[in-house]
Parts: sequence; C-alpha cells; structure tokens
Amino acid sequence: MTKAMAQNHVDGVGAMYDLHTDLFAEVLGGSMHVGYWSGAEDARPLAAASAHMTGLVAERLALTPGQQVLDVGCGNGKPAVQVAADHGVHVTGITVSAYQVRLARERPYPADRPGQVSFQLADATKLPDDDASFDSAYAIESLLHMDDKDAALGQLARVLRPGARLVIADFCLDALVGERDAQLIAHMREIFRISAIPTMDDYSMRLRRAGFTVLDLTDVRENVRRTYDLVAQGFRQTVGQLDGELAAQLAGSATVIDQIGAVQPLGYLLITAVRQ
Ligand code: SAH
Repeated sequence: MTKAMAQNHVDGVGAMYDLHTDLFAEVLGGSMHVGYWSGAEDARPLAAASAHMTGLVAERLALTPGQQVLDVGCGNGKPAVQVAADHGVHVTGITVSAYQVRLARERPYPADRPGQVSFQLADATKLPDDDASFDSAYAIESLLHMDDKDAALGQLARVLRPGARLVIADFCLDALVGERDAQLIAHMREIFRISAIPTMDDYSMRLRRAGFTVLDLTDVRENVRRTYDLVAQGFRQTVGQLDGELAAQLAGSATVIDQIGAVQPLGYLLITAVRQ
C-alpha cells in the first residue's frame, strides 16, 4: 500500500465518524463500543453495559491517581471522562475525526471529581507525543480501523514508558471462518470501514514484536453478544426519523448487524499488555 492510499483510508475513517458519530453513539448507549454483560441474569441496559465495558478496561490498566493515560481512538470522549473521573488520572484522547475532537472538548467534566481530560486530532500510526510520555494507554475498538496495526503498536511502545500497561478491547476472528460468515464479516467491514480483523494469536504476535509482554488475553464474545441485537434495533428505530439514502443504508446495516450476532467465529478480546 502506498502512503497516499494509507492516508486515504485514515481520512475515510475520519469522514465516517464526522458524519455518523451521533448516530453510532445514540444506538450504542453514549459511547461507541459494545456492552459487557456478566451473564444471562445480568439485565442492565446497553448504556450501563457499555459503561461497564469501559470500567473493565480501566480496571485492567491498574491506574494510580495523577498518571498520564492515552486513549487511542477516543470517540466522543465519553470513555475518557469516565476513566479520568473514576481514577483521578489525566486522559489524553486522540481521534482522526475533527468533529469528535470538538464534541469531546465540549463534554462537561464532573466538577466534583479529580482527574482531567484533553483531546487532539492525531493518527495513532504517527503519534506526535514524546517518547515514554504516558504511564498507560488503552484502545477500545480503534485498532480495528487501522490498516497498519504494527505501526500503531510501534508508536504506542514508543510513547509508553517501560512497565506501562496497554489495554485493548477489540474484535478478533477465529482462524476458521465458513463462507457465509466470511461474507457477513466482509459486509460489516465495508459498512464500518474496518480493516482486517486479527486472530487472537495474531494480536499476541504483533504485541510481542512491538515490545510488549502479553499479561492476559480473554475472549469475552459471549459477554458482548447482546450488543448486536440491540444495535440492530436501534438502527431500525432511527430509520423512521431519516430520509432517503441514509435511511436505506441504515436499514441494510441493521440486517447485517442482526446476522453478525449469530456469527460464532467473531470474537471479542480484552488484552492486557505491558511495555517491556
Ligand atoms: N474508543 C471510543 C470510540 C470507538 S470508535 C469508544 O469506545 O467510544 C473508533 C475510534 O477510533 C474513533 O474515534 C476513530 O476516530 C478512531 N480511530 C480510527 N482510526 C484511527 C487512527 N488511525 N488514529 C487515531 N484514532 C483512530
């Protein structure tokens, strides 16, 4: 891939989020990632399950107050505010969508909580930050958009200090995928501008190569599965409020997401790694 093609891809992802951030956040309960349910008896609504997922990511970072934390692909800033306010840390969020930077900067920060947030337009594969300037980093459903995951992991290894934690929450794919499932996944990747989805082993290998030790890698696909159904429902409800082409696109997306819920080889990983 040429540099120009890579830049086009990043610009395309940014443009998608400039356009659809509010819609995605509305159907996903405020943030833009899956919800996490502890089990069948866990009846919390999607917004609470989504905050639960953010909480699990932060827990894995083992933060101490005052630390500098990087949120890689920060969306509208909701997870960053939750992490900063819950743990009294300074979270710097980066995104490739200018609209998201604006939204995130306008997001109110709870006055009675310690911690701080700041947001910048930046590409994770070319981070502007100094070497070893962060105590930890997390990436919730952002690596999935990056063509060059090794470049992003290399940059994270560079800006994290030795001993710093990196937590990733993202999709993975089993090595064996049937024809029909592969088609559905291809469709999902097209709709959401998702790059290749790595296997669990692939994540481990890339992390090690970039200079991380993998502490834990847990597949939580059953804990997040309810999200797909709820998002498809949300898309269908929104279709009624929209006109023309976008409505047709959304209806199509709802059908795909519905079916994605039944794609067994689509996994979801929580990964905790340490910068060597
Ligand atoms: N982590 C947020 C948003 C997830 S949506 C949440 O959980 O709510 C994916 C995010 O990744 C978007 O903010 C998008 O702008 C960002 N992203 C995608 N490619 C990126 C890149 N190359 N560099 C930085 N951010 C990127």
